[in-house]
Amino acid sequence: MIIKERVLPIPIVKLESLLRRIPKEHVKRRLIEAELAKRLSGFRGEQSVDYYLYRLIESENHLIINDIRLPYNSKNYFQIDVLILSKTHFLILELKNIAGELIFDSKFKQIIRKNNGKEEVLPDPILQINRQEILLREQLKKYNFPFIPIESLVVMTNSSAILKSINDTDGYYNKVIRIASLPDKINEFEATYNREIITTKEINRVADYILSNHNPGDVDFITKFEIDKSHIINGVICPKCNEAPMKSIYMKWRCQMCNHISEDAHLLALQEYKLLINSQISSKELKKYFLLHNDSVCYRWIKKLNLPFSGGKFKGRRYSL
Ligand SMILES: [Zn+2]
Repeated sequence: MIIKERVLPIPIVKLESLLRRIPKEHVKRRLIEAELAKRLSGFRGEQSVDYYLYRLIESENHLIINDIRLPYNSKNYFQIDVLILSKTHFLILELKNIAGELIFDSKFKQIIRKNNGKEEVLPDPILQINRQEILLREQLKKYNFPFIPIESLVVMTNSSAILKSINDTDGYYNKVIRIASLPDKINEFEATYNREIITTKEINRVADYILSNHNPGDVDFITKFEIDKSHIINGVICPKCNEAPMKSIYMKWRCQMCNHISEDAHLLALQEYKLLINSQISSKELKKYFLLHNDSVCYRWIKKLNLPFSGGKFKGRRYSL
């Protein structure tokens, strides 16, 4: 069964918000769109794995934890796409949604990718899963969990990718698979590891440890793409035609382009403020962000939003979004 579902990652939501909040002709728009496309393709590849894990998802004896990020020292983390816990062994899956011709080179520990006439080098995913295995093993040891075999696989989720290898290659044949082979590979592991090593109680303790130490991480794209905060578009965006700003009229929002009336279009605007700028806002900042013309309208919106706040006097309050 799945004990941690895969959700749309926050960085993707942030990038979508950012694209809504910068001008159409902004110089960084194409870079941001490319970053979003890359992350969305990875996410779709991750989603496709559920179909092949169907038997384990139905099984009470397998705990599936998606998309985890665990600390391994005071400031570093390691990330695992899918971790499957059972009483006989653990399995790490690293999912790769890469298109094109992929040539695995075990000698130089690299993948050469040829796509659309371009050639590039990608890092060796085997090094990546080996590292994940080592770091997970270290954490389990550190917290006195009993020893259990850990297996790991690189799962290529893009069915149109052409996989080739040069040099050896035992390592690759065993560790890199196409997603369609995943059920067979899981059966193979189950045949190999047929002795129960840990109890249900211990397995639950491992799962609790992982869930409570998971840290989703964060990316500040405004800093990463060096975007001037003054370029962020203020105002409530019309949910119908995507134009800003909507005008506040009788505590509703009216689009000045298409006349659409919305009662709650400001909620998405506030979520975007939280994702892109700050999780707290003052009445002055709200007035500026919503492009309100007077303090009394601003006061009524603040009253209607009923947000928790810190600070005593009205003007000094910081509202939590
Ligand atoms: Zn509109």
